[in-house]
Amino acid sequence: MQINVSQLLRDSIGSSRDYKINETIDSDNDSVIIPVKGEVKLTRTNRSILVQGKIHVSVEVICARCLDIFSYPLTLNIEEEFFPTLDTSSGYTIPPPEEQDSFTIDEHQILDLTEAIRQYTLLAIPMKSLCREACNGHLL
Ligand SMILES: [Zn+2]
Repeated sequence: MQINVSQLLRDSIGSSRDYKINETIDSDNDSVIIPVKGEVKLTRTNRSILVQGKIHVSVEVICARCLDIFSYPLTLNIEEEFFPTLDTSSGYTIPPPEEQDSFTIDEHQILDLTEAIRQYTLLAIPMKSLCREACNGHLL
């Protein structure tokens, strides 16, 4: 889920571009592929690239009652700043932002959404999910 933002970083502040996303990503344990679909808008700010958009993911979770694996659709409202690490015009390295754990754009001006989507997904998955409202588990 990588977007080259070298051109956008050269654009004036307030410039934006829309991107359609249609991919799959591996989750942390590598066993669950999360299909991802959506649209994001990338806006050049005075210090970063602001990513805003709605992303639909489908994750595989285990039912809290019957322990079956089922796919759970989630909609993520993403709003996240990505900070450049290299100045496009001067070629100098930019010191990391003051905010802890902020996302960065690599030295090739590639903005990678994968980690952000992974984190948003993990936050959005409910603690106890049921494959269906009336699931009584296999014991009954
Ligand atoms: Zn169930």
